[in-house]
Amino acid sequence: MDPRYLVIAVLLLILIGAGVYLFWKSRRSLPEEAVPKEWIAILKKRVRYFRELSPQRQAVFAKRVQGFLNEITINGADTTVTLTDSLLIAASAQIPLFGFPDWHYPNIDEVILHRANFARDFDPDSPDRNILGMVGNRELKRAMVLSKPALHEGFGRHTDSNVGVHEFAHLLDMSDGDVDGSPDYYLEDGLAGPWMRLVEKEMRKIIQGESILDEYGATNEAEFFAVATEYFFFRPDDLKEDHPKLYGMLEDIFRQDPTQANLAEAYRE
Ligand SMILES: [Zn+2]
Repeated sequence: MDPRYLVIAVLLLILIGAGVYLFWKSRRSLPEEAVPKEWIAILKKRVRYFRELSPQRQAVFAKRVQGFLNEITINGADTTVTLTDSLLIAASAQIPLFGFPDWHYPNIDEVILHRANFARDFDPDSPDRNILGMVGNRELKRAMVLSKPALHEGFGRHTDSNVGVHEFAHLLDMSDGDVDGSPDYYLEDGLAGPWMRLVEKEMRKIIQGESILDEYGATNEAEFFAVATEYFFFRPDDLKEDHPKLYGMLEDIFRQDPTQANLAEAYRE
């Protein structure tokens, strides 16, 4: 045999080995140390979604929260960051991903908390301070900005909006490179077309006053996806009753049915 073929074969093997190693490394592993009991108590108290999970699923969710907090930095721009703040941010991140085996976001490194709602230039004292959260702008490279009071309100008793889940829904949408209301990376084959057609229909319903969704959802397709995601997780019963088709498609997208107790049975670790 020509020795050159042997060299090529060896080089190919090394290349394949390196590829497998990098793939393995990219699937980050969850931390081994136990989740502190205090974290579980806070999640139970503040996050209804967590309370409604079976104890086994709670353990998985808490572990993912821990993994998320290990790889993300949370900073206060003009406020302190408490443990509860961090846990609410991590819960916002993990709720939409809980039907998938992968709990990790490839497109974020940092969350910045502000003491209040803010304006486009992030000034919380500006008269135009009406922004609760922001992600994915050019000036925000791999960072998310959240208003601390808005984050907490999202986990209040009577709410259909949750700015944390809203912004993380944008990150899921962006994970395929486009902010277009279609989270292609998470959509099963053949679902993107029907999803976008349904989005157009549902946006028209909002404009015509025939939707329970907030009118902000009619801003564009990306906002529709983020707003619909909030309702799916925070008012699932109403959404299912009034918009069954939309609910069904979101169920396919997220692989969860939040109207059922012991959510997200579809995926098991
Ligand atoms: Zn938005």
